Amino acid sequence: MSSVSRLTSVTESAVATVARLVGGARSVFVLAGAGMSTESGIPDFRGPEGLWTRNPQAQRMFDLQAYRSDPELRVAAWQMRMSSPIRAAAPNSGHRALAGWESARRVTIGTQNIDGLQQRAGSTHVLELHGSYWESMCLSCDDRQPIQGVFDRVSNGEPDPACLCCGGILKTGTVAFGQTLDGDIWQACVDAAATCDVALAIGSSLAVQPAASLCDLAVAAGAPLIIVNGAPTGYDPTATVVVHGQIGPTLDDISRLL
Ligand code: NAD
Repeated sequence: MSSVSRLTSVTESAVATVARLVGGARSVFVLAGAGMSTESGIPDFRGPEGLWTRNPQAQRMFDLQAYRSDPELRVAAWQMRMSSPIRAAAPNSGHRALAGWESARRVTIGTQNIDGLQQRAGSTHVLELHGSYWESMCLSCDDRQPIQGVFDRVSNGEPDPACLCCGGILKTGTVAFGQTLDGDIWQACVDAAATCDVALAIGSSLAVQPAASLCDLAVAAGAPLIIVNGAPTGYDPTATVVVHGQIGPTLDDISRLL
């Protein structure tokens, strides 16, 4: 047997095991990461083509203290957001596969993604742990508005628009490093992870806390943990099944066996 066919057969049996576990579950918790959306043309942060892998400086735009104190960084951040591939992206087969799983079980997705693609694919229980690209928020009064209004102001010559309610600094409604998670959303993720029959971590390096700790909660509560990712993660030794494969085709294969 060649090494390629050996790898294929190992992956195939892992996919069959995942389908058996998901197929027998009444409630599934998915922790989704940026790898879910790379097949929609949105780069992740830490993968081989990731935003930070290619440009480590871009990481500063996601640091709240740097964003507050550096007006030039905010100008660059608005330009980056306006040219983000998120604006034109469409759901891919991985997003659609997870939406399809809802027909026979409860599927709660705690997503680290900010792109809204899981909801657009039809998933109805999506908890946005790291907020949304599609709204603006004021760092002073927390006013939230559809993001397009701010993009229009940038296009019309305001490189770093201020909040129209209080004059405060605006950013996207996403959670930067140094910002706290929404308490209700976090609690809903904790509840779903601690009560699920099966937990999956899909397309995440599992390097960001506290999101990754949801895997620990699920395992501590007795649920098998399934990891689907292109690269190894620090949680692989904790998992019942690890599938190292491309997410869209892998989730399609699992769906076909359900
Ligand atoms: P990450 O960049 O740290 O990890 C992504 C992982 O997915 C990597 O291990 C990579 O190898 C894997 N991967 C990428 N494409 C894949 C594919 N097609 N098939 C299989 N594996 C694939 O992402 P993270 O763990 O989600 O954490 C980083 C932060 O990134 C999150 O806070 C999130 O808010 C933010 N983010 C979100 C988006 C988005 O909304 N689409 C995009 C970039 C970053």
